[in-house]
Amino acid sequence: VEVVALAGGTGSAKLLRGLAGSKCRLTVVANIGDNAWMHGLYVCPDIDIALYTLAGVANRRRGWGIQGDTFAALRQLRRLGEEAWFSLGDRDLATHILRTKWLREGETLTEVTDRLRRAFRVRMKVLPVSDSHLETRILTEYGELGLQEFWVRDKGRPKVIGVRYAGVARMTRAVSDSLSSADRIIVCPANPVTSIGPLLAVRGVRKALSSVRAKVTAVSPMIGSSPFSGPAGRLLNAIARRPDSLGVAGLYNDFARRIFIHRSDSGLVPAITQLGMECRLSETRMTGPSSERRLARELME
Ligand code: GDP
Repeated sequence: VEVVALAGGTGSAKLLRGLAGSKCRLTVVANIGDNAWMHGLYVCPDIDIALYTLAGVANRRRGWGIQGDTFAALRQLRRLGEEAWFSLGDRDLATHILRTKWLREGETLTEVTDRLRRAFRVRMKVLPVSDSHLETRILTEYGELGLQEFWVRDKGRPKVIGVRYAGVARMTRAVSDSLSSADRIIVCPANPVTSIGPLLAVRGVRKALSSVRAKVTAVSPMIGSSPFSGPAGRLLNAIARRPDSLGVAGLYNDFARRIFIHRSDSGLVPAITQLGMECRLSETRMTGPSSERRLARELME
């Protein structure tokens, strides 16, 4: 079975681990909306979390970076006067150095990601949704911020007024080919506004998904009226959507046929069904390898 997983960061990584352990042929389509230049290097957090997860070197506890990494370079950058608030480990930096070098040599982000994938001996395909730059911008009471500036540097404190996706990006050929040949497409649990939103803002993606809607299943990142982690609730509020699985369903129903929501949210089933989606109740919380595999298995049934 050919499975394409649309993925953001930490929540998605758990499901990717589960899917990687199943028998499917997996292709990950990664969000690019939080890609950013840091200290002269091009950092792609969602691509890297997928690579590290599938390579088995991800730091599970933190949900980002490489297991056992150290932070000497970052400390030295700070000593030298550089503002360094985004945690980039020493080994992690090697990834960003090579990516930046290869991009400078003229390779596309797709090609660079594939080279990194092979270097990390990852069998599954990992595709950036686009080779162009598209940036999630958070409109706050203090003006517009990049996603990492808002969430990491400012610790998510500023009041959020809105969100926009800056730039024009087109879906790559590799992504459109894999979407059309997939047997199943899974929208991983991810922040609907800052991970799945920018994926859908890439030209061609929403239309391509809609045309194969019957194959698309989403997993909600919400439980009750909160996300399992991160700022998804506040961001849904900021774009005038309910911060629960019904709000998420309302953002996905035009291109996803099915949605998995937490079993405690059975009260939302009628309203989600009204949106034209099949709604499955499940234990969508993943707490370790066995729950990751179980959810992946249910999604493949
Ligand atoms: P973030 O919101 O900036 O962390 O962006 P991500 O796209 O990395 O989002 C992580 C999302 O995954 C959050 O919205 C979480 O609610 C969700 N998440 C984290 N752990 C789980 C889990 O075990 N199950 C489900 N269904 N969602 C999860």
